[in-house]
Amino acid sequence: MVLVYSDNKKVMLELLNGAQPIAKDLKTKVTAINTGDAAQAKEYISYGAEKVISIDIKNQTYQVEPYTHYLKQVMETEKSTVLLIRSTKNGKELAPRIAAQMNVGCVTDAFNLTIKDNKLTVDRIEYSGNAVSTLQFQKSPYILTIPPKLYTPMNQDTTKKGETSTFTPQDAKTPSKITDIKTQKSEGVNVEDAEIIVSCGRGFKNKEDLKIIQELADVLKGRTVGCSRPIAADLKWLSEDHWIGLSGHKVKPKLYIAVGISGQIQHIAGMRDSNLIVAINKDPEALIFNSADYGIVGDLYEVVPKLTAAIKEKMN
Ligand code: FAD
Repeated sequence: MVLVYSDNKKVMLELLNGAQPIAKDLKTKVTAINTGDAAQAKEYISYGAEKVISIDIKNQTYQVEPYTHYLKQVMETEKSTVLLIRSTKNGKELAPRIAAQMNVGCVTDAFNLTIKDNKLTVDRIEYSGNAVSTLQFQKSPYILTIPPKLYTPMNQDTTKKGETSTFTPQDAKTPSKITDIKTQKSEGVNVEDAEIIVSCGRGFKNKEDLKIIQELADVLKGRTVGCSRPIAADLKWLSEDHWIGLSGHKVKPKLYIAVGISGQIQHIAGMRDSNLIVAINKDPEALIFNSADYGIVGDLYEVVPKLTAAIKEKMN
């Protein structure tokens, strides 16, 4: 059985499609783990789950320790061969814990999943994108986290039939308890789902100047502003929601415009899968041009307002 779990419904639909070839090769079923209601279970079936196991945890919010126990119990009860979890912060703390408790291997950010010699073989990016390693699991179950947007959901088919069951886990005795929850400062921006991102870097001299990037984002559909790490982490001109890269968000928009960003590998790691990359930088030798489909060499303070005006004119 290939088990698929994410705390995000949209991501579940991506993983349900991605799990199909592996399940076929292993001659087993794609099974969704559902922590939502019966309607959600039905939806998973319409998107490719042959079976849905709903964990009876009465809408308990995600916490890594109990969820480790719940998923491990499902894995053991169902004698699952594979567990796919999305590579989010939650997914990456959950998957290795389950693997450690089951004394099996775990690969995070895996792609190119194939079965070779009856064992799961995967690729993984190393050193911020400077190398790709190929890894083969030596024994199952195989536990993996999968980067966002590696797969697209299959077309929904509401006529599909599938098996559903409820799993009541044993109580999870966890050594830690939550004493306080502080909400992280957020501007409600979702760069991961944006189709167009205009991103700013240290080429900007002042926080106030970011309005020119917002104006460019506004004339384009999508309206989403991203940034490099210094803008969010060091200067704190934008919240971490905007931060793109190895330690920020991984994005895959149709169009990514990098403005005043040098193109260090840690930034590229977060946006290299964008369909079309445009870079604006005054340094013709800037690394970002190696990753760009189109490059504009020039001062952003001159180029961006002109670009915004030209797009505005075209849109009208
Ligand atoms: P800079 O490197 O300072 O580049 C500014 C660019 O602006 C230059 O190319 C310059 O030519 C150009 N410029 C200046 N003035 C103008 C102008 N007037 N017009 C046009 N162009 C101009 N970085 C990330 O972005 N995301 C991450 O997730 C991330 N994770 C990291 C994780 C680790 C472990 C480490 C060590 C680093 C990480 N970094 C990350 C930092 C990364 O290495 C770079 O330091 C960072 O990406 C640089 O940001 P920048 O391009 O905005 O700034």
